[in-house]
Amino acid sequence: MSLMIPTELSVIEPAVETAGLAKRYGRRVALDGMDMTVPQGAVYVLVGPNGAGKTTTLRILLDLVRADAGRAGVLGLDTVSAGAEVRAHCGYLPERQDAGYGWMKVQQLLDHHARFRSNWDAAYATQLVERLEVRDHTKFGKLSKGEARRVQLVMALAHRPPLLLLDEPTDGLDPVMRDEALAILSDHVADTGATLVISTHLVYEVEGLGDHLGVLKEGVLRAQLDRETLRQRLRRYTLEVAEGWEGVPEVNESIIRRTGSGREVAWTVWGEEGEVVERLKAGGATVRHVDPLTLEEAAVALLAMRENQNRIAREPAPAATQAEVR
Ligand code: ATP
Repeated sequence: MSLMIPTELSVIEPAVETAGLAKRYGRRVALDGMDMTVPQGAVYVLVGPNGAGKTTTLRILLDLVRADAGRAGVLGLDTVSAGAEVRAHCGYLPERQDAGYGWMKVQQLLDHHARFRSNWDAAYATQLVERLEVRDHTKFGKLSKGEARRVQLVMALAHRPPLLLLDEPTDGLDPVMRDEALAILSDHVADTGATLVISTHLVYEVEGLGDHLGVLKEGVLRAQLDRETLRQRLRRYTLEVAEGWEGVPEVNESIIRRTGSGREVAWTVWGEEGEVVERLKAGGATVRHVDPLTLEEAAVALLAMRENQNRIAREPAPAATQAEVR
């Protein structure tokens, strides 16, 4: 049983597609051959440790930063030759707020932003301002981090863009506003069918929303797959075993994560459940139960995967339709 966690999605009309993206800042490698595919209508959750290259990826997609190599396409447009058009079509929630507009009152800032968005929906903007309790008569620069984040959410959403790129969308929000922001995103997806790329460390927050997962480490996507494939192939096996049991060679190479110790262990294994169970039993283990993982658990397990463990990573996975995934 070899480990073949997909890193490629085969999609006919992706909303986002990058090939071989590379980016260095001096000696520091931010991206090292990033191949990412986001299907239209997907809610794609991009996870990775600090410094993995998530923000750099989103900024390259909007041509706010230029890659050293590779290419990126967004909504059928090349990000380098059509950067302004890409930015006009996307909603972007940056990781950090732009200090440049601090002197403007929030309403002025929203009006200014609206002038550059032909599809700005003023009624929707007002609704978002109310739901997010935005203080529209205060200077933007005087807002707290969370208050500014709420303004940025209005700016990202109110022109109903077909693609939203959200960098840590709930960062700085209090628990009530975090729930409201997530509810707004969920409503937005249901109403518009927009594609979302969400970079986050808090995967549990988007548990009900995410339908694709990209695992970025050291500038390379180590896994990229839809939720149904994850649910089917990545499971936790709770086993009762003899003290010192060393497992079964054919299964051991597919173990992504080991927890538990002594006579009860829980292994996260990539593979077809029937086959895994059969081999574990043949090897002497009693299989107590088998559970699919939450998106958060899957992200943690895949992030913990050893480098080079996913040996045959370039095998394209059959793309599930959105109907299958949702
Ligand atoms: P985090 O989860 O901490 O936000 P990230 O995955 O978004 O991290 P990036 O912000 O894309 O990571 O950074 C990737 C790497 O590139 C990091 O090592 C970072 O220090 C470096 N980097 C990013 N932007 C710059 C810059 N403007 N100048 C120098 N180095 C940079």
